[in-house]
Amino acid sequence: MDFFKRVSLLLFIVSILFDSTSGSSVLLERAQELEFTDWMIGIRRRLHENPELGYEEFETSKLIRKELDSMGIEYKHPFAVTGIVGFIGTGKAPFVGLRADMDALPIQESVEWEHKSKVPGKMHACGHDAHVTMLLGAAKILQERKSEIQGTVVLIFQPAEEGGGGAKRMIDEGAVQNIDAIFGFHITGAFPVGTVASRPGPIMAGSGFFEAVITGKGGHAAIPQHTIDPIIAASNVVVSLQHLISREADPLDSQVLTVAKFQGGGAFNVIPDSVTIGGTFRAFSKESFMQLRQRIEEVIVRQASVQRCNATVDFLSYTHPFSPPTTNNPFLHTHFQKVASDIVGPANVIEVQPVMGSEDFAFFSDAVPATHYYFVGMRTDSDGHSTSVHSPFFTINEAALSYGAALHASLALNYLSEFGVNLSNTVNVDAAYDEL
Ligand SMILES: [Zn+2]
Ligand SMILES: [Zn+2]
Repeated sequence: MDFFKRVSLLLFIVSILFDSTSGSSVLLERAQELEFTDWMIGIRRRLHENPELGYEEFETSKLIRKELDSMGIEYKHPFAVTGIVGFIGTGKAPFVGLRADMDALPIQESVEWEHKSKVPGKMHACGHDAHVTMLLGAAKILQERKSEIQGTVVLIFQPAEEGGGGAKRMIDEGAVQNIDAIFGFHITGAFPVGTVASRPGPIMAGSGFFEAVITGKGGHAAIPQHTIDPIIAASNVVVSLQHLISREADPLDSQVLTVAKFQGGGAFNVIPDSVTIGGTFRAFSKESFMQLRQRIEEVIVRQASVQRCNATVDFLSYTHPFSPPTTNNPFLHTHFQKVASDIVGPANVIEVQPVMGSEDFAFFSDAVPATHYYFVGMRTDSDGHSTSVHSPFFTINEAALSYGAALHASLALNYLSEFGVNLSNTVNVDAAYDEL
């Protein structure tokens, strides 16, 4: 870190210790005005009716651009097929990013309501329709306060969060160049509406997938001596893989390894030639993650060989790129606590435990100096909004939309006013994104 960055960081820490975030609650009041919430709810319901899977969010992207056009917000498009990057403010550094994901899931919606998905087999079952809406809401608030923005807020609408590596592709195509800090969020039924939740440090696990083909020699099930049975080999592999967590990993360093796929054979009296197994693994540090990856391969290949089988292991990195752990910068977390306290009150800012789920927002931490991820609560005591994400019964409590919009807007606005002036970066939007 050079001298100017050190000084900037120091000034930032001092500023977040002694300043107050002015006007944050006013932003929530704006987002809760009737015409504002009606506008957000309308967008969210249109998105919900027309879910699109990763890298196919063409209509979603069109809707977002139409809204940005009507607000007079400039943007660049496309990034990663359907992604959009919008800009509000001076057009000059410093840049702070706000991110929303746009994709739906291949799930048939089971909720019967007026705005049910119109696309068979596809559903916004992870709330990304709400995320897009909240970022558009934040954009509207920020555009109305454009003159107060001391730098540039970069709006990042990314495709393919659900395993498609959309964030990584956005980064590769230059979406976050020169951004100093970026905030991401997820709506959740785990916490009540009016609360927000996060933590400093690791908040979501890194995740990877694997698939292995264990090959023996098929034959008659009653004459095993003339075969090499891959079912026995694969069974031993599954058991041995469990020992990586229970015997090799530090019990205080949370990790998961699940074999969720086991396919082989189709008859009662035939030993198959091969068995395919597959699953996922999770960890909170890159070191633990890479260690687990290495040992998964070794255990599968060597354990299979004990039963005279051959094994090949594929980590599916092209179709399912490794997602790193999502880790919150401690200074940004302090900033989040202060801004969120102003909006929802300190008692409604919850510190969460890390979860083993993963988020491709994590990719931004490799490309942006400081990242922060938080949850926006939506549960009420009387309704069913605690249904898990990725369930066909998942529903959104639309009362939460204004909280996400106001908080995202306020995080960016206050970040730039408190910290941005001290950054030495001098590029402007055109210089930063001119390769497009
Ligand atoms: Zn999801
Ligand atoms: Zn999600």
